[in-house]
Amino acid sequence: MNATHEVLNQSTPLADYNVYATNRALRDALAFHLPGSDEGPRLALGALVGSSSMQQHARLANVHGPQLRSHDRFGHRLDQVEFHPSYHALMGAAVGAGLHGTPWAKGAGAHVERAAGFMLFTELEPSILCPVSMTYAGTPALRGNPAVAADWFAKLSNTAYDPRLVPLAQKAGVTMGMGMTEKQGGSDVRANTTRGTFAQSDAWGRRYELVGHKWFFSAPMCDAFLVLAQTEGGLSCLFLPRVLPDGTLNTIRIQRLKDKLGNKANASSEVEFHGASAWLVGEEGRGVQRILEMGTLTRLDCALGTAGLMRQAVSLALHHCTQRKAFGRPLVAHALMKNVLADMALESEAATALALRLARAVDRQDDPYEALMRRVLTPVAKYWVCKRGSALAQEAMECLGGNGYVEEGGEGVMARIYREMPVNSIWEGAGNIMALDLLRAVRGSGRSATGSQTIAEALAAELATARGANAAYDRFADALPGRIDAAVDEAEGRRLAQDIALAVQASLLRRHAPDVVFDTFCRSRLGGDWGQAYGTLPAGSDFDTILARAMPH
Ligand SMILES: Cc1cc2nc3c(=O)[nH]c(=O)nc-3n(C[C@H](O)[C@H](O)[C@H](O)COP(=O)(O)OP(=O)(O)OC[C@H]3O[C@@H](n4cnc5c(N)ncnc54)[C@H](O)[C@@H]3O)c2cc1C
Repeated sequence: MNATHEVLNQSTPLADYNVYATNRALRDALAFHLPGSDEGPRLALGALVGSSSMQQHARLANVHGPQLRSHDRFGHRLDQVEFHPSYHALMGAAVGAGLHGTPWAKGAGAHVERAAGFMLFTELEPSILCPVSMTYAGTPALRGNPAVAADWFAKLSNTAYDPRLVPLAQKAGVTMGMGMTEKQGGSDVRANTTRGTFAQSDAWGRRYELVGHKWFFSAPMCDAFLVLAQTEGGLSCLFLPRVLPDGTLNTIRIQRLKDKLGNKANASSEVEFHGASAWLVGEEGRGVQRILEMGTLTRLDCALGTAGLMRQAVSLALHHCTQRKAFGRPLVAHALMKNVLADMALESEAATALALRLARAVDRQDDPYEALMRRVLTPVAKYWVCKRGSALAQEAMECLGGNGYVEEGGEGVMARIYREMPVNSIWEGAGNIMALDLLRAVRGSGRSATGSQTIAEALAAELATARGANAAYDRFADALPGRIDAAVDEAEGRRLAQDIALAVQASLLRRHAPDVVFDTFCRSRLGGDWGQAYGTLPAGSDFDTILARAMPH
């Protein structure tokens, strides 16, 4: 008698499905970049990250975020961060899949494979990928100190996760972080005030004592960090281990953890250095160039991570809209909803394509043409994919109606995606900094190592691969190389980054997506037959085919 109602017409959780097997866009892109490669490991990872047991870990790691233990009860400093066991389960899975330093110990194709794995894992939990990404990015930069690299490399690439705070010799695997940003300046690191005073030389080279602070210092439980400090010779890059070779703790004082919008499972801290020991990496006074080697790779991960989140948001929206009915029909059967979903599916596929193209350029380290593509596509992909991510998350959330906005103890995955999106855009160089970096690339010599090609020529060659199939594309692609000119106005930096992104995305869709995806992308994004919000594709578009391709089941 007291029953008020039956719960009807609610969608089910999107769980226990293979995140890789159902991602046609990613599979087709990989078939293009790594033809004939073994899909077995990706299918295994796809099943793992789509499982409800791992999703439960992701929920718990976000709800029970990291806690700082600055002191013990007797007043001794601890400077440790405690995590929920689910955080460690996620870290173990990511490191076990070799998403950190492992590709540097492998051969051709390893970075593209890892990029795919990174995107897939993002769909499970993105914030724990922060230390995973920094470890990936920091490993090659250590070449600047061969003695440190010799001792640390094997453990940075080992797939064993070992969170213990013990000396290197006792650890099975290690992780790395980075410290650049200070209170008075993040983008402008030349404003750094942290001082490094030369102490002595030892087995790891020149050792300095650091006094100063870092305003953002993520994943402070990493085993080592690359940091910037002012030394006698100028701004230098230094290797800062948490545990010193003699087994004592380095004097890195964790002041507090940041209370962030999203990225909840990951700890981001503020730290002070009280005479902490750090060893020079690379040349003294050339620290910015050295640490940017790391920054370039974390920028790749910002694009990969955002593309992964975009795919997840589209999958959740499609899943919901096939189950939920309104006005007598499933939401996905309504013309306007078809348009919204198809428009987002195109954006998501284009983001996957561009991020993976950049990973291919990273993979082919010794190819001069790819070096040019890496130089130009790093700021372009970081800028554009991250910019589009936040807007897409909002639209995907709206597809779920009010439920999309609800957290419900961490079950509201869409809310988590929405809160996570902006960090990829801000950290490692916000939008304007990426646009400025693109202009720097264009204004520099813009030539490959062999000097045979400029950035404009390389881009023209890349775009030529798709010429002749779509008039809007041809017009756009033909005009672009001429705009890559040293004289481009700084105020137009964002627009140039956007247009390079769109042109390269279209060229990739031509090469590894069905014609309908390429044509609809060109007509809307390049031909101007489009509005200013998602869901504004031209009415005659083949929505059903685009949606069928994007369905997560
Ligand atoms: C969750 C999180 C984790 C982080 N983790 C780390 C970490 O582990 N290590 C680390 O070193 N940093 C970390 N950061 C810091 C991050 O990299 C910086 O916040 C970022 O680089 C921007 O620096 P800033 O905050 O000092 O902003 P500012 O440099 O003050 O920039 C503010 C705005 O001004 C713009 N701007 C700056 N210069 C120009 C210009 N010349 N022309 C036009 N516009 C300009 C920027 O694009 C930005 O939009 C983290 C940040 C977040 C949010």
